[in-house]
Amino acid sequence: KQQGRNNFQWYTSDLNERVCEHARLRNDLQKAIDTESLKLHYQPQIETRTGRVSGIEALLRWEHPQRGFISPAVFVPVAEDSGQIIPLSLWVLDTACAQLRQLGEQGITGISMAVNISPIHFQRGHFVQFVQTILEKHGLCGEQLELEITESLLLHNAEQAIDTLHRLKALGVRIALDDFGTGFSSLSYLKRLPIDKIKIDRSFIQELGTDCHDAAIIQGIIAMAHHLSLTVVAEGVETESQAAFLKGSRCDVLQGYYFAKPMKYEALEVFLRGVKG
Ligand code: C2E
Ligand code: MG
Ligand code: MG
Ligand code: MG
Repeated sequence: KQQGRNNFQWYTSDLNERVCEHARLRNDLQKAIDTESLKLHYQPQIETRTGRVSGIEALLRWEHPQRGFISPAVFVPVAEDSGQIIPLSLWVLDTACAQLRQLGEQGITGISMAVNISPIHFQRGHFVQFVQTILEKHGLCGEQLELEITESLLLHNAEQAIDTLHRLKALGVRIALDDFGTGFSSLSYLKRLPIDKIKIDRSFIQELGTDCHDAAIIQGIIAMAHHLSLTVVAEGVETESQAAFLKGSRCDVLQGYYFAKPMKYEALEVFLRGVKG
């Protein structure tokens, strides 16, 4: 009994601490949004068939004035809870498209921009209209933009989500299913979803050398995706042997530290000029 009580007290103070931390992050995030101190970094995606950079993924970066770098894996869920994800997500799409246009103006073309979309934003009314407005604002065609979604999108209102995907496709926008293999419904939904790509989750790639099942799973995913006419991207490729295995397994696109870390726009421009020769 005594122990139970102690446990309960420990639990509540832990919970309190988490609630406070959450509120602190939310306040600080609002300051960061207001002062426009969030940044986007870009990570190249390499097409295995040609070796060229076929796309880049935009990733949010927050350098907290006191606490240093805070991962989007930490603050995106906070922003989703508070609703801050909507202005944040609008800013991300606008900025990523502006920078893709800027690349084009620098003579760097034939590259698509992938943007992660929170289900909270995706499910909002006017999402498709907003995407269309942004494309027009920056003079881009739909094919230059790729939206990365996750299966969690389908948990609430799958029919509506599928309808939204069809309307995005009508704009020419490409859809990638991120973190593939980590959800539950992957296989049953795959044939119903109007998507173009799947991104095999990093966890499968990471254990390639140590877990022989991962090699089999990866090759199975690639074969299945190709039968469904989907492009396959591997994320989190860190070593030469992972890259070689994935290329040999006919994975279409590779992304990871082995090729390049996410980098700021200026460095990206230099990187892209370098690989283009
Ligand atoms: P994600 O979309 O699956 O992004 C891939 C993550 O893997 C990124 O982490 C990237 O930096 C990291 N990564 C790439 N290559 C490697 C590698 O070789 N090794 C390792 N260990 N990691 C690698 P990051 O930037 O911390 O982002 C984490 C997650 O936060 C993203 O996962 C995405 O779900 C979310 N996120 C990031 N930016 C945005 C955004 O603008 N909007 C939304 N809604 N979510 C975002
Ligand atoms: Mg992603
Ligand atoms: Mg991912
Ligand atoms: Mg993710």
